[in-house]
Amino acid sequence: MGRPVGIIAGGGLVGLTLALALHEKGFKSKIYESVSEIKPLGVGINLLPHSVTSLSKLGLLSELEKVAIKTSSLSYYTDDGKLIWSEKRGLAAGYDVPQFSIHRGDFHMILLNAVKERLGEDAIVQDHRFESYREEGGKVIASFTNHAGDQKREDVTADYLIGADGINSRLRKILYPDEGPPHYSGQMLWRGVTEMDPYLDGRSMFMAGHNDLKLVAYPIREESRKRGKSYINWIAERRIPSDLAARQGDWNKEGTLDEFASYFDDWKLDWLDIKSLYRNAISIHKFPMIDRNPIPKWSFGLVTLMGDAAHAMYPNGSNGVSQGVLDAMTFADLIAEDSSDIPSLLQKYEDARREAVSKIVLANRETGPERVMEMVKEKCKGECGDKHTCVPEDTLEEVATSYKRLAGFHKDNLKNS
Ligand SMILES: Cc1cc2nc3c(=O)[nH]c(=O)nc-3n(C[C@H](O)[C@H](O)[C@H](O)COP(=O)(O)OP(=O)(O)OC[C@H]3O[C@@H](n4cnc5c(N)ncnc54)[C@H](O)[C@@H]3O)c2cc1C
Repeated sequence: MGRPVGIIAGGGLVGLTLALALHEKGFKSKIYESVSEIKPLGVGINLLPHSVTSLSKLGLLSELEKVAIKTSSLSYYTDDGKLIWSEKRGLAAGYDVPQFSIHRGDFHMILLNAVKERLGEDAIVQDHRFESYREEGGKVIASFTNHAGDQKREDVTADYLIGADGINSRLRKILYPDEGPPHYSGQMLWRGVTEMDPYLDGRSMFMAGHNDLKLVAYPIREESRKRGKSYINWIAERRIPSDLAARQGDWNKEGTLDEFASYFDDWKLDWLDIKSLYRNAISIHKFPMIDRNPIPKWSFGLVTLMGDAAHAMYPNGSNGVSQGVLDAMTFADLIAEDSSDIPSLLQKYEDARREAVSKIVLANRETGPERVMEMVKEKCKGECGDKHTCVPEDTLEEVATSYKRLAGFHKDNLKNS
């Protein structure tokens, strides 16, 4: 048998990363994406140092540096602007590689261009929605429909199939037909971008408030920073009870200011005008904070799950895409070691990733490293000065450190990577 060839269902961030990682190891794959044209959608995401190390191995570091912000710090505040905890990030924290804050669309285009250049234009087939699969004679046959056109069905045969088809994965639905819609946290997120004067050093990420009402912001475009401006990604988060729970996540749904902005009227951050941030938004999207329960198995015969399809998680900890990048790199490393037995390869991939990522999904439900904001909300009697001292510094540090270890981006985790 020659080298196995894979089908990747889903040309999102993880599907494209996987195709590049496989190509780097000398393995062929073909990506089938449901939309008829991949466009630079979404707003901000973070690439943590462990995934940047991987992306750097794929030769993408210089492209990322051109467009993304090298995040310098992450700080937590209460809604009156008092500091809870601040830590350096990326290069500023002594990592060998940056942490990047980047527009999802910019990252998607970097990956797409690299796939087309390295694997060829025909490595990605668009307007092909994955519908079903069957196994025959040691091969997998995947069926796709062309939904924008004439609903034609196309069957494709390969050695294995990876479902990298996002939070509403079709492959996951086939494997777990009774699972139902995603699990809703009770919080709605309004995600926007605004170009305005920089705050703090123009590279800082911050979160303010608590679980019932929160603002997260970070700049995401280097080009804007170079012009003396800041292209700020922000997320306004508000608790909204459960009638929304049944809603499937639609990343393209638009939001409006009247749904959330007035809740922040009495907030005060000395270094950022929150009203201007909201009012001058270029775009606002609305997305419920949802995830999926960890599942007991990802790999079944010749098929497996990857990225959000395997482990959609709350954005607390800014870890979602980084974990998907690690899935892709792990799979490529394992197939390069031994590709003779596909079911056992897919099982090894699952063994390497599933349990570790499931723990992160659950930790993010407990708000991950953002737990420090809840701790202050519970403890503070209003007697702290400019900086909160109501929770001891070493307790705050322990929350930050233990999350980094769990998610695999503590400096100790990266020593030999
Ligand atoms: C339009 C969009 C906007 C987003 N915006 C943000 C954002 O602003 N911030 C953020 O943190 N995260 C955002 N995300 C999610 C984020 O990209 C993921 O959480 C993370 O990157 C994991 O990537 P993934 O490749 O597993 O999933 P995704 O990036 O969601 O990619 C899944 C891909 O599979 C395709 N697909 C779905 N079903 C099928 C099917 N049946 N057959 C073939 N292809 C299929 C989708 O069109 C998509 O391209 C967005 C996702 C999408 C699709």
